[in-house]
Amino acid sequence: MAIDATQPYDDSNIFARILRGELPCRKVFEDEHVLAFEDINPLAPTHVLVIPKGAYVSWDDFSARASGAEVVALVRATGQIAREAGLVEDGYRLLANTGLNAGQEVPHLHVHIFAGRPLGPMLAR
Ligand code: AMP
Repeated sequence: MAIDATQPYDDSNIFARILRGELPCRKVFEDEHVLAFEDINPLAPTHVLVIPKGAYVSWDDFSARASGAEVVALVRATGQIAREAGLVEDGYRLLANTGLNAGQEVPHLHVHIFAGRPLGPMLAR
């Protein structure tokens, strides 16, 4: 079910539990501010989720409240993960669903990286 991006942060969400080590993940990157792991239900040959370690509900929350260091870390990590996975030459897509109309399901900001095949039109018409 889609979540309301204006809701307060819910510490019991699935990515908070992954960050606390209560649930496993297939990690592809980690630094002080960022964790990235494979999506459990991949929609492309490469489907990675990049998340801040801080408690941010959505892109809206993160862009409003995160420190400069956290913002830089998320952006740099996303580019680095794609670069090191060899995704730049054939191309990749980033997606951050935010709130109800976007169908955001997990109330902790995540940036999807999709790659590995032609990804089709940007949105269904
Ligand atoms: P969104 O619709 O943008 O909120 O995307 C949520 C994503 O989280 C979906 O692509 C799910 O497949 C993915 N997901 C849900 N639970 C897990 C999990 N435990 N580990 C990895 N990915 C997950």
